[in-house]
Amino acid sequence: MDAWTNLRKILHVDMDAFFASVEQRDDPSLQGIPVVVGGSLNSRSVVSAASYEARKFGIHSAMPMAEVYRRCPHAVLLPVNIPKYRAVSQQIQQIFLTYTPMVEPLSLDEAFLDVTGSLSLFGPAEKIAQLIKRRIQLELNLTASVGLACNKFLAKIASDLRKPDGFVVVQPDRIQEFLDPLSVERIWGVGKKTAEQLHTLNIRTVRDLRNLEQGYLTKLLGVIGSQLYLLARGTDERPVTSDRVVQSIGRETTFANDIADRDLLETVLLKLSVDVGRSARKESLKGKTISLKVRFSDFKTISRSHTLTQASNLDDVIYREVCQLLREVELRQPVRLMGVTLSNLTDKEESQLSLFAELTQDRENLTKVMDLVKEKYGEMSITRAKLL
Ligand SMILES: [Mg+2]
Repeated sequence: MDAWTNLRKILHVDMDAFFASVEQRDDPSLQGIPVVVGGSLNSRSVVSAASYEARKFGIHSAMPMAEVYRRCPHAVLLPVNIPKYRAVSQQIQQIFLTYTPMVEPLSLDEAFLDVTGSLSLFGPAEKIAQLIKRRIQLELNLTASVGLACNKFLAKIASDLRKPDGFVVVQPDRIQEFLDPLSVERIWGVGKKTAEQLHTLNIRTVRDLRNLEQGYLTKLLGVIGSQLYLLARGTDERPVTSDRVVQSIGRETTFANDIADRDLLETVLLKLSVDVGRSARKESLKGKTISLKVRFSDFKTISRSHTLTQASNLDDVIYREVCQLLREVELRQPVRLMGVTLSNLTDKEESQLSLFAELTQDRENLTKVMDLVKEKYGEMSITRAKLL
């Protein structure tokens, strides 16, 4: 009996430097040179993806673009082209789906696949992983790194270990051997804060962590502590869920210059609310919870939310709620970033028992007409006075 009997076979497939690789693939003059995909230099945006040539200069995602220029002035900077990456992402998904329906995308460039049920059709999981890698290479001219393990946690760590173009298998009888030397930061849920807490106790590797008792870890870190206890032993029962639903719809914006003026902030909120409302209506979704995120010039970030009694996707409703939330925020400093999110989503029409049902219906109809006009004649055809 081999060590895999009765265990799941989970793949984590992660594209290598995805956005940058797509750009290099589509323009041969970019091959072999540092390419950085992100916002423009004079804005305060950050790196979305860096080619491996750019990484040699210490450039990585989430680094401010200004820092990119300091480290590597000759890097080619390109704007983020989400529609293009999404199209490639769909082609990748199509390849995945020929091997299993159990595909759980995490983002445009990575996904979990449960291939346990595919073995009789396609052969061992190792072979399926290699086939997927080869097809991505041949059909899309891109490379992916793959991790194979008996759960999501281990597969995700494995795919990251030998990038680019890597393939790492975690054998079930060698899980501890695999995990023990890794630094605690590799574990899901260990952010900067938790890592620091652990470091002060001289816990640096998974092996160090595994020597702690469950009760002690839970006392120290709360819920995360008991999760860490299990993860340090390679235990993770979470299933691969293929029908991932949209959890929230959000928009945020970073200002070129910090804003202290409340009126101006409200105007920005209107624009964000309209964007969020329209995306929600496009997907036929309504949400009950509306959240506001505010980042101050010192990077301190707060978020406030309010839950409605009835789900909505109307711009006015979203706008009214976020304005109310903003009024409750003390502006001790100018604001650097603001975001609006609609969550607690539903796609079911709730029965509207309120007296205002008819009124709401009218506003929904009017909003639908406005969306149609905008789609046909462009964004500026109908706009609110406040945005002019
Ligand atoms: Mg990736």
